[in-house]
Amino acid sequence: MNIAGVGLTTLGIIAMSIHTSPLDLVKDLRDVRSILSAREKAERRGSPSTAWQQLSLELSLRLQTSLDVEWIIEQFMNMIHAHMLYDGYQYSVSSPDFTLKTGRDQGHSCHYNLSIDTAELGSLALYRGRKFAESELMLLENLLASLVYPLRNAILYRSALLMAHRDVLTGVNNRSTFDATVTREINLAHRNGSDLAMLVIDIDHFKRVNDTYGHAAGDEVIRTVAQLIQLSVRNTDHVFRYGGEEFVVLLEASDCEKACVAADRILESVRTAEVVWQDQKLSTAVSIGVSCLTRTDSASELFGRADRALYEAKKTGRDQYQIA
Ligand code: GH3
Ligand code: MG
Ligand code: MG
Repeated sequence: MNIAGVGLTTLGIIAMSIHTSPLDLVKDLRDVRSILSAREKAERRGSPSTAWQQLSLELSLRLQTSLDVEWIIEQFMNMIHAHMLYDGYQYSVSSPDFTLKTGRDQGHSCHYNLSIDTAELGSLALYRGRKFAESELMLLENLLASLVYPLRNAILYRSALLMAHRDVLTGVNNRSTFDATVTREINLAHRNGSDLAMLVIDIDHFKRVNDTYGHAAGDEVIRTVAQLIQLSVRNTDHVFRYGGEEFVVLLEASDCEKACVAADRILESVRTAEVVWQDQKLSTAVSIGVSCLTRTDSASELFGRADRALYEAKKTGRDQYQIA
C-alpha cells in the first residue's frame, strides 16, 4: 500500500512546503498552527471519528517536537500500540541508510511505502500472529498521515548532518569527523579492553599525477583510492580523508596482525586498480603506516606512531606498509 502525497492531500495534512536547510526544519518544529488548520479542514469534510482525529492531532504535535528519525518512529509506534496491537515492526529508509526493527517479524503483516511528492521516506511493516482487521488498517492509514511530515523533516535533517561529516570530493568522513571519532573510539577501546588499530595512508608520487595530467586527474585518483580503501575494510571500520592525498582508517577490534592483513589488502587493491584518465592508464600506489593501541595511548600518540611508520614506508621504497 502506498501512502503518497495525493492521499495526504485528501486527508488535509498538506500545509508545509519542502524545506532543505536545518534552520527551516527547526522552524517547522514550531509550526503547529498549520497542522491545526489542516485538521479543521478534515473535520469539515466529515473524515474519521473525533477520537481518531484527537489521536492524530496528539501524534502530530508530539512528533513535531523532534528531528530524530529513531525517536519519531518509536513514539509513533508506541502511540499506535495503545490502539492497535502488534508483535513487531520494521522501519527502513535507504537514503540516509537507517533501519529500526523491534519484536517479531512473522505471521500476518501490513506494509506501507511512505513518500511525499518525490521524497522517499522509507517503508514501515507491522507484524502479528492475528490478521489485521480492516478497521485497524484504516486507523493506521489515517495516523500515518501524521507521521510523514515530521519524518520527512527528520530525514532531511539527518541527511544534512551526515553531509557535514563527509568529505565532498570522496564521500568518506572528513578531518573534523576524524578528530571527533578517534578520541571516542580510543576511550571505548580502553573501557572495553578491546583492540583498535590505525592505518595512515598516503598516495605515492601523487604530485606527478597533478603535474602530468592536471588537477582533475589528481582528483579522480583521490576519489578512486578512497573507494578502494572503503571496499577493503569492514563496514564497522572508519575511513577518513585526513588531508590532500592522505587517509586514516580506524580498525575496530583489530590487533596488529589483523591490521597488517587489512593494510595488505589495501596495497594490493590500489596497486592493481585501473584508473583511466583520457584514455591513459594511470598507475597508482600507496604507502601505509600501521599503529596498534596500547593501554595508555592518547589519540595523538596512536596517530604519531602510525605517521612515523608511514614515513619509514616512504623512505624504504613506498607501495608497502610499516608497523610502528
Ligand atoms: P610521496 O610519494 O612522498 O607522498 O609524494 P607525493 O607527490 O604524493 O606528495 P607531495 O606531498 O609532494 O604532493 C602531494 C600533492 O597533493 C601536493 C598537492 O598540491 C596535491 N593535492 C592536495 N590536495 C589535493 C586535491 O584535493 N586534489 C588534487 N588534485 N591534488 C591535491
Ligand atoms: Mg601527503
Ligand atoms: Mg603522497
